[in-house]
Amino acid sequence: MNIPVYLDCSATTPVEPSAAAVAAKFTEKDYGNAASPVHDYGLFARTAADHARKLVGQPAGAGADSVVFTGGATESNNLAILGLAEEGTRTGRRHIITTAIEHKSVLEPAAAMERFGFRVDHLPAGADGRFDVNRLAELLRPDTLLVSTMHVNNETGIIQPLKETAEVLAGHEAYWHVDSAQGYGKEFTMLTDGRIDMISVSGHKIYAPKGIGALIMRRRDGRFPPLMPLMYGGGQEQGLRPGTLPVQLIAAFGEAAKLAMRDGETRRQKCIEYRRAVLSVLDELGAQQNGDERFCMPHTVNFSLKGIKAETAVRALKSVIAVSGTSACTSHNPMPSYVLGAMGLSAERVECSLRFSWCHMTPDADWERVKDIIRKLRSGI
Ligand code: PMP
Repeated sequence: MNIPVYLDCSATTPVEPSAAAVAAKFTEKDYGNAASPVHDYGLFARTAADHARKLVGQPAGAGADSVVFTGGATESNNLAILGLAEEGTRTGRRHIITTAIEHKSVLEPAAAMERFGFRVDHLPAGADGRFDVNRLAELLRPDTLLVSTMHVNNETGIIQPLKETAEVLAGHEAYWHVDSAQGYGKEFTMLTDGRIDMISVSGHKIYAPKGIGALIMRRRDGRFPPLMPLMYGGGQEQGLRPGTLPVQLIAAFGEAAKLAMRDGETRRQKCIEYRRAVLSVLDELGAQQNGDERFCMPHTVNFSLKGIKAETAVRALKSVIAVSGTSACTSHNPMPSYVLGAMGLSAERVECSLRFSWCHMTPDADWERVKDIIRKLRSGI
């Protein structure tokens, strides 16, 4: 039996062989505790973690001391949002702005802040898949504590208007958090912008193993954002994320970040080439693309096949390509995509939407079979 081609890289990427090798080295051989550099085991671990910290900061133009390692972007998002509760309460700044198309790991902590007495406004999105930055200008208030916007949407691959956001936020005191789980290490232009205060990133979206991420912080007037930790313990990660460092994951994340910097452009070109084949197949099938192609990352496409429900297509295609009907994080939930809903798509179009996402390692798929299966579904055979 043929192995289906994996086209779900936005859910998680394959692991780069060299990142897996690094993880194995610090699991099997150099397994010391980075907090015990009194012997070589601990020293090797500490040195590896320090080196990785430098590498992980680089795609965001940040130094090693700006990197707080976490368990992934979910935790980073929670830390960036809930971590400001004390500051907001102390200063009376109790207003938060986020967007209607964020990942649940932003929307849920924002909802928790609402229960703690903060007011949260959500920016709407347009059919192009981008949040409405003009509305941001209208919603900003003197007491706005935090603006949390994503970099690249996980369902559509649409790059969000961060440049315009930076312009609106220039001169305003609000902290700006960017969830870059889907952009970091792939789309380099905006993450180095000095106006961004906090960036959430994730290892398993850039070919490192799962269970490692970071919150990358930037100083303003010499100070990092005044975050309160969500857990207390041994004071690691500047007191913001206590616990023994998972050195094997951190070192692999560093390796993956290094490759992202080194190979970014070649990976991009490969994805653009792959995209041509995908778009031509979709064109032949009369698919409607969701979100504006001009803003789309080269490795993702979200589209609807009129009359074919996503779950039917996913099942029918399963032996040829592994794809998802919506984002992995919400696919246990039978509710239709709130992201596509917020973009104003009809319920039918949302129900019939699929996401294909690939990477530089993705082999060619049997597109003839894909077309055949979809055509058969259409004709009801
Ligand atoms: N934000 C976005 C935009 C994501 O796509 C994801 C992963 N699906 C996350 C946050 C959560 O990342 P992690 O799996 O590292 O917790």
